[in-house]
Amino acid sequence: MDPHIGREFDSPIYHEAVGQFDRVAKLMGLDDNIADRLRVPQKSTTVSFPFRHDNYAEVETLMGYRVQHLTTMGPTKGGIRFAPDVDLGEVAGLAMLMTWKCAIVGVPFGGAKGGVRVNPMELSRAELQRVTRRFTMEIINVIGPETDIPAPDLGTNEQVMAWLMDTYSQHVGHAVPSVVTGKPPSLGGSIARREATGRGLMFLLPAATAARALDPKEVTIAIHGFGNVGKYAAVAGHQQGAKIVAVSDISGAIYDSDGLDVDAASKWVDENRYLEGYPDADFIDGDDLFTLPVDVLVPAAIQNVITAKNANEIQAKVIIEGANNPTTLEADDILRDRDVFIVPDILANAGGVTVSYFEWVQDIQKYIWTENEIVARLREIMTRAFEDVHSIATRENVDMRSAALMKGIQKIADAKLVRGIFP
Ligand code: GLU
Repeated sequence: MDPHIGREFDSPIYHEAVGQFDRVAKLMGLDDNIADRLRVPQKSTTVSFPFRHDNYAEVETLMGYRVQHLTTMGPTKGGIRFAPDVDLGEVAGLAMLMTWKCAIVGVPFGGAKGGVRVNPMELSRAELQRVTRRFTMEIINVIGPETDIPAPDLGTNEQVMAWLMDTYSQHVGHAVPSVVTGKPPSLGGSIARREATGRGLMFLLPAATAARALDPKEVTIAIHGFGNVGKYAAVAGHQQGAKIVAVSDISGAIYDSDGLDVDAASKWVDENRYLEGYPDADFIDGDDLFTLPVDVLVPAAIQNVITAKNANEIQAKVIIEGANNPTTLEADDILRDRDVFIVPDILANAGGVTVSYFEWVQDIQKYIWTENEIVARLREIMTRAFEDVHSIATRENVDMRSAALMKGIQKIADAKLVRGIFP
């Protein structure tokens, strides 16, 4: 491999994504030419643009990115994050993970990701809207229902997707709901998209706990994060009879070994924004959540939180990754040696993009599915993907992350080979 390939993307997450890919490409004996093509994204857009604060005199220059990793399979697909430390490499690494994720659940997209380096917590609603609309204008020529379809990610939500859709529609002159997923249902958004990632994770709880001879109705679960993914994972886990003993946000974590009242915690956050101050549980440091005595750990917030520092202290026997890239390569090695059963991000959190796919199909066909239809199809796709990956893991005698990558990479490699090279 040419060591210069991909140096534009130098960033910890990009190296993590390429590191995972290289390890598995070697195990599979993947063709070197195909491996080189998949190591780097096909298209990357970097923009800088002015952003006027509410204080009219203050104009800040912001950096934004949209990276399309693979255009072989159909349009590209992936979220847009607003976060203070986003860079091109991070977005490129996450776009690569989206490619594998889409291939594993069998939705006809390549991976993409976007981001704006800004702290959304510091923005007023009007400022958030201006950043969203201007960034959308900056990338308007690279997105579209047949080319690249954004969705929510860290720091963005249904409202941001609605502004994106409106900006795109104003530009082309008619309403185009299918340019983005994760929209509000009133605008053609899927009625089950908001809960999809958390729900999808918990559809895998029975099979994942069975892999370590645990009863899903008896298990205790700690969830890092209580936002778009963590909150709905907590609700879905609780509905299945599991005990959610800890959840966290940026203020810290709440813990009750007898099980939290998930609805009450959720109501508390709706009213008070942060978990801190929640009266009916112990308040502990967010980092201590990872090493609690629980059966199942669900990292459902940000990247690189399970590291060489805490991997040896983790007591959970099963980890279900709701966040993207929550486990570093080093920690992954440690946990593999310790025989912790990890359901990797590219499988575990694929419920989000799966329901995004449903939303896109419904928007294109102008045909609305019922919530029951959506949830039943989501369950079927998630459980089938898990079974496929688990059978590869058993057959090849590898861990679930390697097996999931094998499934995703093989599918893409086959498609690339049959398409051939132009010209
Ligand atoms: N941001 C989500 C992810 O990382 C969703 C992407 C989508 O729905 O397109 O999977």
